Amino acid sequence: MHCPFCRHSDSRVVDSRTAEDGASIRRRRQCPNCSRRFTTIEATSLSVIKRSGVSEEFSRQKVVSGVRKACQGRPVSEDDLAKLAQRVEENIRSQGIAEIDADEVGLAILDPLRELDQVAYLRFASVYQGFDSLEDFEAAISSLRAERENARLEQ
Ligand SMILES: [Zn+2]
Repeated sequence: MHCPFCRHSDSRVVDSRTAEDGASIRRRRQCPNCSRRFTTIEATSLSVIKRSGVSEEFSRQKVVSGVRKACQGRPVSEDDLAKLAQRVEENIRSQGIAEIDADEVGLAILDPLRELDQVAYLRFASVYQGFDSLEDFEAAISSLRAERENARLEQ
C-alpha cells in the first residue's frame, strides 16, 4: 500500500490488532521512506445485491443518502446520520455474511432509525415495509407507543 504522505510504494507493519467485534483488523504501518505512520483497516468485503441482481460494495454513504430524505425537517444532524450508518454496517457485519440484499439493508436501518427519530422512522418504514393503508401506520404507531410506555415503566 502506498504511503499516504509521500506516495512511497512500500510500508512496514508495526502493529496489528483485531477490532473488538472481530470483524476487522487495524494495522499500524510505517513508511520506510518518510518514516511517518498511518493506519489501515482490513475488513472482509461486504456486497449489496440490488434488485437488478447487480452487486456493489456496501457503502455507508448510500445508507446516509437513503435515510436523509426521511429525516428532512427533523432534528437530525449529519453526525447522527453518520453514526446511524456506522451502526447499520456493524450490525450487518456482525452477522458474518459476505453479501446482503439491498432490501435487507433497508430493514437493518429501521431499528437504529427508530431510536434516532420516530417520525423519520415512520416515513422510512412506510417505504421499506410497503405500508399501503392507514392501518399499517396505526400498527407502527401503536408499537412505538407501546415501546415508549415500556421504556417509561422501566425507569
Ligand atoms: Zn512516506
